[in-house]
Amino acid sequence: LDVAIVGAGFSGLGMAIRLAREGRSFVILEKAQAVGGTWRDNRYPGAACDVPSPLYSFSFEPNPGWSRMFSPQAEILEYLERCVEKYGLAPHLRLGTEVTRAVFSSSDATWRVEVAGGEPVVARHLVLGLGPLSRPLVPEIAGLARFKGRVFHSARWPGSASLAGERVAVIGTGASAAQLVPPVAEVAARLHLFQRTPSWILPKNDRPMTAREKALFRRYPLTQRALRAFTYWTLEALGTGFTVHPVLARWVERVCRKHIAAQISDEKLRDAVTPRYRAGCKRVLLSNDFYPALARENVELVTAGIREITEDAVVGLDGIARPVDTIILATGFRATDLLTPLEILGRSGVDLNDRWRQGIEAYLGTTVSGFPNLYLLLGPNTILAHSSVVFMLEAQIDHVVGCLREAQRRRASSVEVDEVALRRWNEKLHRRLSRAVWASGCSSWYLDENGRNPTLWPGPTFEFWLRTRRFPSESYRFS
Ligand code: NAP
Repeated sequence: LDVAIVGAGFSGLGMAIRLAREGRSFVILEKAQAVGGTWRDNRYPGAACDVPSPLYSFSFEPNPGWSRMFSPQAEILEYLERCVEKYGLAPHLRLGTEVTRAVFSSSDATWRVEVAGGEPVVARHLVLGLGPLSRPLVPEIAGLARFKGRVFHSARWPGSASLAGERVAVIGTGASAAQLVPPVAEVAARLHLFQRTPSWILPKNDRPMTAREKALFRRYPLTQRALRAFTYWTLEALGTGFTVHPVLARWVERVCRKHIAAQISDEKLRDAVTPRYRAGCKRVLLSNDFYPALARENVELVTAGIREITEDAVVGLDGIARPVDTIILATGFRATDLLTPLEILGRSGVDLNDRWRQGIEAYLGTTVSGFPNLYLLLGPNTILAHSSVVFMLEAQIDHVVGCLREAQRRRASSVEVDEVALRRWNEKLHRRLSRAVWASGCSSWYLDENGRNPTLWPGPTFEFWLRTRRFPSESYRFS
């Protein structure tokens, strides 16, 4: 095989479509029984994209049928399933195939990809589309294991979970909680929301797409392209506040404060949901129904912190035991823990996890020295806080194809990024990141345990795209 792809989410499928067009042989190895990645896993009520739908799709595959400005999870999943069908990817898909280990063989410049309970796959190149937000973070809260009721993570929502009439605890107030709290509050008898740190929340400019708009997009695809371009440049302009200087994000705080004032009348509650850190330091959320949900009679916002969980209750640091039937962990993901539990052994047997112990890094977020013919999609420092990661992903896919083409042109069997090029790339990135709003003094999933940011791209997205336009052969070694 030319290429083995791991993961069948946006990344893996996007890569596969491109390889099919390039006429390469490839296989997609997916541990779950279905495609869709994050959009297959996050099925909680209210799950939707917080990037406007005109921008949240592959550039080559616009969807004139999105039902809303911010598309719901089920529609995005359907979109990806349609892509599989349209681009004939099914014969290349191996579902239920969990990759456990991949070893590079220097003698024949191939990757040997080991899968649980099956024959290994051998391919010249290996592309990892693992998804940065795919491993749920289960918090270490005293007593969680002894709780006798139901406990689940927001990204592991049980298909049958009816919470009607139940007493529910939700832990966390990030993007997932902001979406699931309003629909759960509507059916639960009681909802206790445990907030450790409030989020800055902007109004969500959501609305259904009208039948006329959809017809227009179908008939004149250029109109949808124009809306996509408008959405792209609007988000880029808004993003400068995060990337150029934290002070520029202050206007976001003003809008958020007005949003709180407009939606919450209780002074104490207003104060409790107002963050004390710079807007943008943690991800800014979009919601019109989260604050009204907090004001419901059956909802309690608990800010006291959690002391422990007993067999049937969550006990706050205020000493109050709140009896619950179900605990929902909206506690986020292990974003800076990119590879676990995969073992990737490169040239001279070095494990990528070990290589990254001093800091996660990759050239253009994609390639790592010592690991020839290996590519990471949505790898280090490619995630965005303000726009669509699908844009970054497509630029990365272009770069991977650049590597494959250049290797072919030079009749080389291995491509490896130069150590010095990688180091320079990272030094520049981290100098910029140290001035950005994400380093302004809060804790977030963007940062690792040393306070370093291996997650976000620190500039405008067109800059990343421009860097992938021309293949930088001077940064690579071919052999
Ligand atoms: P998150 O933003 O990391 O939020 C996790 C929440 O859990 C935080 O409020 C955190 O509090 C809290 N928490 C964690 N451990 C805790 C503990 N031991 N005790 C009490 N509270 C604890 O996770 P998320 O909401 O799942 O969102 C993650 C990212 O996924 C988002 O930022 C976004 O990029 C993406 N996402 C996107 C969408 C969308 O597009 N619609 C939807 C959902 C998620 P602290 O803040 O104090 O740590």
